[in-house]
Amino acid sequence: MNMDLSLDTPIGIVGAGTMGSGIAQVAATAGHPVVIRDVSREVLEAARQKMEKLFARLVEKEKFTARQAEQILGRIQWTVDWEPFRRCALVIEAVVEDLSVKKQVFQALEQVVAPEALLATNTSSLSVTSIAAACRHRERVLGLHFFNPAPLMALVEVVPGLDTASEAVQSARALMERWGKTPVTAKDTPGFIVNRVARPFYGEALRILEEGLADEATIDWAMKELGGFRMGPFELMDLIGNDVNLKVTETVWKAFFFDPRYRPAFTQQRLVEAGYLGRKTGRGYYDYREGAVRPEPNRDQQLGEAILFRILCMLINEAVDAVFWKIASVEGIDLAMTRGVNYPKGLLQWADELGLENVLAQLEALQAEYGEDRYRPSPLLRKMVREKQTFYGTLV
Ligand code: NAD
Repeated sequence: MNMDLSLDTPIGIVGAGTMGSGIAQVAATAGHPVVIRDVSREVLEAARQKMEKLFARLVEKEKFTARQAEQILGRIQWTVDWEPFRRCALVIEAVVEDLSVKKQVFQALEQVVAPEALLATNTSSLSVTSIAAACRHRERVLGLHFFNPAPLMALVEVVPGLDTASEAVQSARALMERWGKTPVTAKDTPGFIVNRVARPFYGEALRILEEGLADEATIDWAMKELGGFRMGPFELMDLIGNDVNLKVTETVWKAFFFDPRYRPAFTQQRLVEAGYLGRKTGRGYYDYREGAVRPEPNRDQQLGEAILFRILCMLINEAVDAVFWKIASVEGIDLAMTRGVNYPKGLLQWADELGLENVLAQLEALQAEYGEDRYRPSPLLRKMVREKQTFYGTLV
C-alpha cells in the first residue's frame, strides 16, 4: 500500500465537471501528469476549452507566465478511455452524485489500475463505505472531499471508509499537503464536517425568518456586519442555488434518520417549487433582475446581536456535537470551517470566547421556549460547562 505519491506520479481524475476540472487543475499545477476522463468527447472538449480560457485570464492577471500555463495545460491528458489510468498512483472520482454510477466507475477503475493504487471519491453526501463496497480492494478506497472552487479552497476532508488502510489515509494526507491543501480527517458520517456543522447557518436563519423575527436583509446584515461572515445566509443560499442547498439539507436530514435538527424549511422548498433558485434564475430570496431594489436591513444593534447569537449558538452546538461523536478533532473542526467555508473564526474557539455556559444557557432557553428536540444541547457542552472546561485551555 505504501504507494509513492511523489509530484511526478500520474494522477487520474474521473469526471470533467466543476469539481473534476478544478482538481485536475490543482494536480497539474503541483506538477503531476494528469489523466481526466468524461463520458463524451464533446463534454471533454468543452471542459478543456474552459480551462484554457481560465489560464489565459490567470496569465493576464500575472498569476502564471504564459510558459507556465502552457506547461500545466500540457500535463493534462483528456480522454474517454480507461486505459491511460493504468499508470495512475491515485485516481480521484468526481462524477455525478449517484451511488450506482460511482460504483460502476470504481469497478471499471479496478480493472485497469495497479492493485496498490489509491482510489478516492469526491462525494459530498454518499458514504465512502458504500462506494468502497463495490471494490475488491476496499483498503485503498477513501474520500477526498474538495470544496468549490477546488483551486482556491484550501480544505480537503479526508474520509476513511470502514475498511480503509491507515497507510492509504497517510499517503493521501501527505500528498494533499504537498498540493498546498489543508487535509482534515473526518469520520464517514453524513455531511462529513462542513456540510454537517454548517446546516444551522441556513436552517436557523430560515427559522428566524419564518417566525417573523427579522427579514432576510436584516439577518444577512447581522451575520456580516456583527458576525464577520463574508456573506449572509440568504445571499449565500441564492448564490449556491436554493435547489442545491435544499438538496444538501434534505440529504443530511434523511441520512440522520430525520433528526429534527436538520429539518428543511418550507420557505426554501416553496422557492424551489416556484423556480426562484437564486442568482442563476434572477430571483431567490432577493430579486436580481435589472432595476430591482435591494431591501434595507433594520440596523437595530440589539436585534442584530440577538439574531447573530442564536445562529452562532446553533452552529457551535453542531460543532461541539461533532467533537462528541468523534467526527474530527477540535482543531480539525475549526480548520474545516475556516478553510472550507471561510468562517471568520473557528466555532469552538468562538465558543470559548463567548463562554460555554452562555451558549448552553441560550440553547436551554430555546429548548424550553419551543419544547423542540431541535434545540437540544450536545451532551459534551453540558459536561464541559459542568466541569468548567474550555476547548483551547485557559483564556487570557
Ligand atoms: P458536474 O455535474 O459539474 O460534473 C460531473 C461530471 O461527471 C459531468 O461532466 C459528467 O459528464 C461526468 N460523468 C458522469 N458519469 C461519468 C462516468 N461514468 N465517467 C466519467 N465522467 C462521468 O458535478 P460536480 O459539481 O463537479 O460534482 C462532482 C462530484 O463532486 C459529486 O459527487 C458532488 O457531490 C461532489 N462535490 C461537488 C461540489 C460542488 O460544489 N459542485 C463540492 C464538493 C463535492
